[in-house]
Amino acid sequence: MAVARSGYLKKRLLKLQVGFLLTEGPGNSKEVPISLPQRVQVDSDLFLESLAGGLILTRTKEGILIQGNLHVMHARECDRCLEAFNHGFVLSIAELFASPPDANISAFSVDSNGEIDLAPLLREEVLIEESYRTFCREDCRGLSAQTGINLNYEREATAAEAMRLEDGAAIDPRLAVLKQLLK
Ligand SMILES: [Zn+2]
Repeated sequence: MAVARSGYLKKRLLKLQVGFLLTEGPGNSKEVPISLPQRVQVDSDLFLESLAGGLILTRTKEGILIQGNLHVMHARECDRCLEAFNHGFVLSIAELFASPPDANISAFSVDSNGEIDLAPLLREEVLIEESYRTFCREDCRGLSAQTGINLNYEREATAAEAMRLEDGAAIDPRLAVLKQLLK
C-alpha cells in the first residue's frame, strides 16, 4: 500500500475504480471490501486511524450508488476530560455518485477516469459525527471543577488538598498518582 514518508496511507487509496460497472447495464453491482488498518489521510487536516467495512456499488441509470457500513477510528479529544482517544463509530453510507456529473442529482460524481473518491464524502460524514459530544469512555469522570485534575486518574481532591495544590504545590495530576504509589 502507498505509505507516505510520515507514516500514513495516502488519500488516493480512498479512490475506487468503477469504470467497469459503468460499462455494464443498470442493476449490476459489486461488493468492495474496504480495509485500511492504519492511519489514512482524508484531507489536509483530517486523518482517520483506520477504516474497515464493505461497500456495495450498484450501477443505476444516474450513476453509481454506494451503500454499506464503514467502521471508522478517529483520534479526537474527550469532551469531558479533554484527553485524546480513538473514537470508534460506524458510518452508514448511501450515496449516489452521478455519471455524468450532475449537481441536480448529487454533489458527488464519477470522475473522468471512471473513479469515485470517497474522501470528500468521508470528510463530510466524519465532521457531522464529530460535531456531537463524545467521551473517552462512558463513565469518564471528567475534570475536577476545583482543581482541573482529571478524575479518571485521581479521586476528587479533598478541600484541603485542593488548597495545597492552589498554594503553588501544584503538580501534574498524573505525577500525583505516582506519588501516591510511592508512599
Ligand atoms: Zn474522558
